[in-house]
Amino acid sequence: MKRIYLDYAALTPIEPRIGKLVEKTFRAFPGNPSALHREGVLARCVLEEARGIVAGVLLAHSDEIVFTSGATEANNMALWGVVREALARGVQNPHVLVSQVEHPSVLNVAKVLAREGVRVEYLPVDKRGVVDLKELRKSITPETVLVSVMYVNNEIGTIEPLREIAKEVRHARKMNSSSYPFFHTDAAQAENTMGLNVLELGVDLMTLSSGKVYGPRGIGALFVRRGVSVSPLMYGGEHEAGRRPGTESPALALGFARALESTQKMRIREEKRLRILKQSLYDRLIREIPGVSLNGDIEHASPHILNMSVEGIDSESLVLYMDAAGIAVSGRSACTTSSSEVSHVILALGNAHAEEAGTVRFSLGRTTSARDIPRTVTALAHTVTLLREARKS
Ligand code: PMP
Repeated sequence: MKRIYLDYAALTPIEPRIGKLVEKTFRAFPGNPSALHREGVLARCVLEEARGIVAGVLLAHSDEIVFTSGATEANNMALWGVVREALARGVQNPHVLVSQVEHPSVLNVAKVLAREGVRVEYLPVDKRGVVDLKELRKSITPETVLVSVMYVNNEIGTIEPLREIAKEVRHARKMNSSSYPFFHTDAAQAENTMGLNVLELGVDLMTLSSGKVYGPRGIGALFVRRGVSVSPLMYGGEHEAGRRPGTESPALALGFARALESTQKMRIREEKRLRILKQSLYDRLIREIPGVSLNGDIEHASPHILNMSVEGIDSESLVLYMDAAGIAVSGRSACTTSSSEVSHVILALGNAHAEEAGTVRFSLGRTTSARDIPRTVTALAHTVTLLREARKS
């Protein structure tokens, strides 16, 4: 029987057309983009074409795009880069604000920053997972150098109010008469269905990943607005305008750029299509399986992520049983599967019974169709019955 893949938030399979483009570009442009000879110049042209495409999608300047190995590196670069640069510029006691529901590639950096003496605070969220703007306003101090709040949450799909956060950050800047604080957003889960116009969003730094837009994995980017200085994470050559050393990969960059461009072109149509599918999946799960409840909010969330708590089951077993039934779902996010405790995101929502239930994340994408919904619900109902019975015996 055909497998049903419902784990697009973990990774999108590469679009075949993009795969062919990457392969062709690898072969056709073997030069080092830093070299002065013809091979080098041609490779440089491809890299800069890619940068121009990404910048065009964001309505940014080409020199504001730094290619990285993915979103994890871009998030690290944003946090470390801003803090280290602030310290180098003589900012005393830099303060960083991150939301409680960030991806581990932000939260774990924040943890290490705190261990190294940086003052880090965590912004709470409401039961939908939305950052508390009043708390943000209260928490920004003249020492705040960075506010980092993700665009779309990878576990529950909640959309954060970026424009409002940007407004608060701009207001704080004005009050400080300084270039700080900066506003960074991790947009890895927003690329498929949300607009990425950086001017409209008001962000200073924005993380992107190719692995979420049906592009080649192993590449992503950090948008760094002109006027925002970030120290590099690594030291080496002068690649990426001195911000990220190492020989660039024009083929991966072009594949990523074209994948991002085509994903953004179809995003409004895809948003509508996925919203209908997600609603129908949600309605049927609620109707047909007792003891399931939604984590987050159905409307105030991206249409590609649905996260449900299921009473009396363990997430890991649920994922394995569903896998055996031919359906790929996720218990938590792929980046935290090794830990069996309740997710930090679910805990931040403040549900007192979170510990008594397992969670399952369905994430929808291009190949998801209406036909997949009934089979998924039936398989889940069957799995839940089996697991609950096993628990009783
Ligand atoms: N941020 C978010 C919100 C994500 O969902 C992911 C991927 N799970 C990442 C960062 C890490 O992305 P990458 O694998 O490109 O490093």
